[in-house]
Amino acid sequence: MSDAIRPQPGILDIAPYVAGKATATGAQNAVKLSSNENPFGPSDRAKEAYLRAVHELHRYPSTDHAALRTAIAEVHRLDASRVICGVGSDEILQLLAQAYAGPRDEVVFTEHGFLMYRILAHAVGATPIEVKERERVTDVDAILAATGPRTRLVFIANPNNPTGTMISPAEVERLAEKLPKQAILVLDGAYAEYVEGFDAGLALIEVRENVVMTRTFSKIYGLGGLRIGWGYGPKEIIDVLNRIRQPFNLSPGQMDAAEAAVRDQDHVAKCRVENARMRGWLANALAEHGVPSDVSSANFILARFASVEEAEACDAFLQQRGLIVRRVDGYNLPHCLRITVGDESSCRRVAHAVAQFKGAR
Ligand SMILES: *Cc1c(COP(=O)(O)O)cnc(C)c1O
Repeated sequence: MSDAIRPQPGILDIAPYVAGKATATGAQNAVKLSSNENPFGPSDRAKEAYLRAVHELHRYPSTDHAALRTAIAEVHRLDASRVICGVGSDEILQLLAQAYAGPRDEVVFTEHGFLMYRILAHAVGATPIEVKERERVTDVDAILAATGPRTRLVFIANPNNPTGTMISPAEVERLAEKLPKQAILVLDGAYAEYVEGFDAGLALIEVRENVVMTRTFSKIYGLGGLRIGWGYGPKEIIDVLNRIRQPFNLSPGQMDAAEAAVRDQDHVAKCRVENARMRGWLANALAEHGVPSDVSSANFILARFASVEEAEACDAFLQQRGLIVRRVDGYNLPHCLRITVGDESSCRRVAHAVAQFKGAR
């Protein structure tokens, strides 16, 4: 290849995203607990809507996503004109980076923050700024200390992945208030539905001009394979994002299934309750065998081991028994394993295997 053909600055700095493992070689009844998927899958109504959409495949989809935005707005009591839908919440995050950050700008996120934030900063040629957390919890003062005249975006997930921890609405508000004027606070609410009664920052968005929230159908809605997410924010920002969004980014099947899913809040509530029950059970069971974790507000727990070597050995041990969990070296947590809260039998298998592993050491 000639030297004259080069990608934009930053792109070759991207370490390609590595997804959680999907298979365990040779093991029977493998269970995947590496990607925070909902073990119960989506609402039946979402599946039926997706099947019905097969009759529309020759039609271009709507470009304004009106039916889906209306459903989201009704369920969450929002202004539908300020909802934007995308190919996963990843697309909304990408549109934000593309629209608001570029060379010489800074994009701020935390040391155990979602890997996409760094990738997106590089993708637009901006400078990624990684900020320390306090014992695996987002540290608002550290973020504020790292911001300045070049900061354009601050990404935090609340609850965060892979730590499972969250900060209070008062802390989020303090962060939004004290940011430099030209910076946008992006609240990634991928796990918000797992927290009973949590608005993920919606009330804050109604009174501020510098806060945007992203949400997804990939987690509690059990539709990770569908690739659909949404965002909410001030009119001016949503308008900017819509200008660079591909007009036909979502297919009819995606939109119809997501609409049916968001209207089935009984399914969401059932999954939230069951997740909380098994999450508490699993965390206790692991702690009893000497594997602590922080209190998680999401659908996974971050199990901490005594050393990197022990985490690696436990990962291999689980893998041999068909239990696929997530190594989190890429998140600066090499002595930890992130374990998705599965159904009851999966949780029991994990707890049993970890007990065996610790017992043999
Ligand atoms: C899973 C996850 C998402 C969701 O991504 P999608 O593109 O909507 O599937 C976003 N942010 C965080 C922190 C996540 O863990």
